Amino acid sequence: MVKIKQLYEGKAKKVYETDDPQYLIVSYKDDATAFNGLKKGTIAGKGVINNRMSNRLMKMLENNGVPTHYVEELSDRDTVVRRVSIVPLEVIIRNISAGSFSKRYGVEEGIVFARPTIEFSYKNDELGDPLLNDDHALALGLATEEEIAEIKRLAFRVNDVLKQFWAGCGVTLVDFKLEFGRLPDGKIILADEICPDTCRLWDSKTKEKLDKDRFRRDLGGVEDAYAEIMRRLNEAME
Ligand code: UDP
Repeated sequence: MVKIKQLYEGKAKKVYETDDPQYLIVSYKDDATAFNGLKKGTIAGKGVINNRMSNRLMKMLENNGVPTHYVEELSDRDTVVRRVSIVPLEVIIRNISAGSFSKRYGVEEGIVFARPTIEFSYKNDELGDPLLNDDHALALGLATEEEIAEIKRLAFRVNDVLKQFWAGCGVTLVDFKLEFGRLPDGKIILADEICPDTCRLWDSKTKEKLDKDRFRRDLGGVEDAYAEIMRRLNEAME
């Protein structure tokens, strides 16, 4: 499969049309943004790590009953994915309080929830991805009731699989963001990426952050954290 034409360039990836209309090629960049694009930078080697990590996790999810857009890794940065129409919802699962949850509700980071939470935001950069509930998503026609139910079921399944996998790597899965897409026949599948840009991953013992919060919060050691989390994944998958 070959790139024919760039469809668009996002914050962390470029997306290309291919010679087959059912498939796209995504190309992962080292560019990093935070706070809705206000903070910009690069994280050397991030694109390679995110490409590999996302692909390996998606494969694992496929093996555990979660359909994904992943098809084939072409190179360090390039991957073939199924072409979908993205459901314009950011789906966030949380196991532990952090980030915008802590800020919104005025609680410290690190509270372990009795059960995971799910929330949606409307994928819309101009509006700053506002939080919305199921009824709002329905009212806005962003998804059907059946699609929302399926998205929730799959998102919690993803959490179960990934939480267990990362625990085996000595890593706590704090929270993460997923995006889902529709195939032409209406089937909902997992799309986008799963990587340290989109997950909070803490060392289980030291609570050290091994994710994009090191960039967002200027904690230093960003590249090292990405390399370390990749090393742990590789080790666990050998
Ligand atoms: N997240 C993401 N993209 C976004 C917003 C959040 O990938 O546009 C991820 C983020 O990395 C974290 C989880 O979703 O793992 C929850 O993020 P939160 O709502 O706490 O927002 P943040 O504090 O990152 O702004």
